[in-house]
Amino acid sequence: MKTKIEKIFKEKFGEGGTLYASAGRINLIGEHTDYNGGFVFPGAIDKVIMAEIKPNGTDKVRVFSIDIDDYAEFGLREEDAPSQGWARYVFGVCREIQKRGGVVKGFDAVFAGNVPLGAGLSSSAALESCFAFALNDMFNDNKIDKFELARIGQSTEHNYCGVNCGIMDQFASVFGRKGNLMRLDCRSMEYEYFPFNPVGYELVLVDSKVKHELKDSPYNKRRESCERVAKRLGMDTLRDATMEQLNAVKTDITAEDYFRAKFVIEEKQRVLDVCDALNAGDYETVGACMYATHEGLSKDYEVSCEELDFLNDVAKELGVIGSRIMGGGFGGCTINLVKNELHDKFIEEVKVRFKDKYGHEPAVYDVVISDGARKVED
Ligand code: ADP
Ligand code: MG
Repeated sequence: MKTKIEKIFKEKFGEGGTLYASAGRINLIGEHTDYNGGFVFPGAIDKVIMAEIKPNGTDKVRVFSIDIDDYAEFGLREEDAPSQGWARYVFGVCREIQKRGGVVKGFDAVFAGNVPLGAGLSSSAALESCFAFALNDMFNDNKIDKFELARIGQSTEHNYCGVNCGIMDQFASVFGRKGNLMRLDCRSMEYEYFPFNPVGYELVLVDSKVKHELKDSPYNKRRESCERVAKRLGMDTLRDATMEQLNAVKTDITAEDYFRAKFVIEEKQRVLDVCDALNAGDYETVGACMYATHEGLSKDYEVSCEELDFLNDVAKELGVIGSRIMGGGFGGCTINLVKNELHDKFIEEVKVRFKDKYGHEPAVYDVVISDGARKVED
């Protein structure tokens, strides 16, 4: 990828610029917890967006996307927004830096990536973080702090790409560190690194490639359930709620709200349990928590679907140590913690069995926890 980027940069813009990269991400555990003031537990992966960038002395940005094979040129004022979707990520990052008082001047860039698009690994956050990190280094003496870089990516999604996302993806992409996951407290925004060196295991993503479009805004409904229960408990969020407290109001709330809140309370505890297990190098417990999360997402929170439950069942049957839905649900990926010796068999079987049942093969990605945003070289 690096060689290709350098070759094309040279053809299009001449002499070499500087190479930067940022990563996609996984979330090991902690689902639907962000808007409940709980914890998420992401890490950056060995799939990246890489860009070669050089100031061009003008007030124009000229950028070429190798993967989409498309070129965009735009100015740096609000009315200069490009029409291509992919270019709006780059433009948005420039504008969000400017809005915060940062400097962005004209530059030339060529970029490519190997984060699968729309597979739940957050290629968009990788793209935003790569450019945010680069422009901070190139024009701002790295004066913008890393949290602000993540927020710049998040605001780009909100204001230029129509995606109302949380902060986790950009946080993971910016802060990622090889061999570490990060527990982010979505209430205080404090974070802590935990070692993740699953010797003897691999992380495997299985993308069902289905996305069920649901009519009645299921995400909003889940949120509303959580808010209702929190209110009943006299709390802002379910963050500090316990099962004892929930059980004490069980008769005052609907069964549906009860099970939604139960999942959130248990999921918060599972993140903490996984952190303890990682500190003890106990990957069996990590895996058991992943299965428990799947069960909760499927039965209590009801955001799974037939295909994801099938993937989870196959993993369990084959002896995969941990498996669960990753992401909001209703389609997308499962994340699996697989023993090395089972890896090839698992991938083969899951592909065949899924295809037999649903008519198409799932996509499978091996991931390794790696560094986030960085300068690759001068
Ligand atoms: P994801 O879950 O992967 O973040 P999104 O729909 O949020 O999916 O973001 C995907 C979008 O990000 C693409 O449609 C494209 O505009 C942009 N993008 C991601 N990767 C690349 C790439 N390698 N080259 C060009 N654009 C990319
Ligand atoms: Mg995205």
